[in-house]
Amino acid sequence: MARSLVLATRNQGKIIEFHRILESLAPGKIELIGLDKFPELEDVEETGSTFEENALLKARYTAAMTGLPSISDDSGLCVDALGGAPGILSARWAGVHGDDRANLEKLLGELRDTPDEKRGAHFTCIAALSMPDGREVVAEGLFQGRILYAPIGDQGFGYDPIFAPLGISMSSAQMSADEKDAVSHRGKSLRSLAPQVIQMLEGLG
Ligand code: IMP
Repeated sequence: MARSLVLATRNQGKIIEFHRILESLAPGKIELIGLDKFPELEDVEETGSTFEENALLKARYTAAMTGLPSISDDSGLCVDALGGAPGILSARWAGVHGDDRANLEKLLGELRDTPDEKRGAHFTCIAALSMPDGREVVAEGLFQGRILYAPIGDQGFGYDPIFAPLGISMSSAQMSADEKDAVSHRGKSLRSLAPQVIQMLEGLG
């Protein structure tokens, strides 16, 4: 019988992505439930100062409220020339949460005079598991690349149109979902967390 696991997000794209990755690692073993099935739960404020703190805040709250094992992720883009910014502020870099276009334009403006060799950047993702009994596991994934001078491509979301992955001759907005999963920060963190998730769920008897 499949074990229930709550994914602490209402973002349908993320639910599909996590489901695809978990299903490829453990077919039929996990029933992934999004927060759309728990409309009464409040959105958790991301008040942490690191990706890990924010991921754990969301997973912990969800496990406590639902009584079910819960996972979450927190991610963002860290640009070398900006000392790691926008980092945990990636979703609201231009001021309005989730305004992808404004965020990307602001970043391009900030890097207008930054030469090729200083445009290094990486996406970071922390995936976190919180069990109702208090056990917790986190896993990190990195996606290295550099920032382009203008947007290109219409796949993905966020900063994808201005991110050129290392060793790949296109932007991450020109990659298919499967191509991106294979190398992305989210794909890596989730694949690294998944065996422990499966082990802990199976250990529930
Ligand atoms: P969160 O993990 O949903 O909080 O994502 C934070 C923000 O980081 C997003 O709103 C995007 O701006 C950025 N981000 C995270 N992952 C990606 C990605 O795979 N591509 C492009 N932008 C991303």
